[in-house]
Amino acid sequence: MPAPLGNNNGHRVNTWPAEHDEALKEYFAEGMSSSQVADALNTRFGWRTNYTRNAVIGRRIRMGIKSANPHPKGRKVAKAAAPRPWEAAGISKRQYQRRLAASRGVTLPPQPLPVSIRCDAPVSRNLALVDLEAGDCRWPHGDSPFTFCGSARAGIAYCMYHDALATGRP
Ligand SMILES: [Zn+2]
Repeated sequence: MPAPLGNNNGHRVNTWPAEHDEALKEYFAEGMSSSQVADALNTRFGWRTNYTRNAVIGRRIRMGIKSANPHPKGRKVAKAAAPRPWEAAGISKRQYQRRLAASRGVTLPPQPLPVSIRCDAPVSRNLALVDLEAGDCRWPHGDSPFTFCGSARAGIAYCMYHDALATGRP
C-alpha cells in the first residue's frame, strides 16, 4: 500500500507531487495565508491530501517561497504603529481630551435662559442716579433719594430679575 501523499510526517514532506508544489506556489503568490493554502490544496487535491497549515509552512520554507505575509500578527503591529489622534495633532492626550470636550460643547444647543423670577434678587449696588452707567439696571429702591439696582442689564432698562418683575412674568 503506497504511503499517502502529503501527510504531515516531516520525513514525508518530500513526497509532495509537483502539481501540489505548483499549486502551493500559486496560492502563496496570490497572497493566501498558510492555512488558506492548506485548505485550498485539500479542496483541490482532497481525494488524497490532508495538508495542515504546518505542513504547508514546512513545504513553503523548503521551497524557499517567501510568505506574502511575513508577520502573521502584522495587523496588531500596524494598529500599535498608528498614531493616536493626539499624537497626530502633536498635543498631549489631556489637551486632546480638553479640545474634544470643548468642541462638543460648541455643538450643544444653547442652554435655555433660567426662569428669571425664580432667581434671587440681585444684590443691589444701590447706585445713585448719577452713578448709573449705560448697562446698569435702573430698578429703583427705597424712597427719595432712590438708589438703583445697578446690575448688568438684560432688558431695555433692567437686569433679568427686575425685567421679569417689570413685565409681570411669573
Ligand atoms: Zn435690577
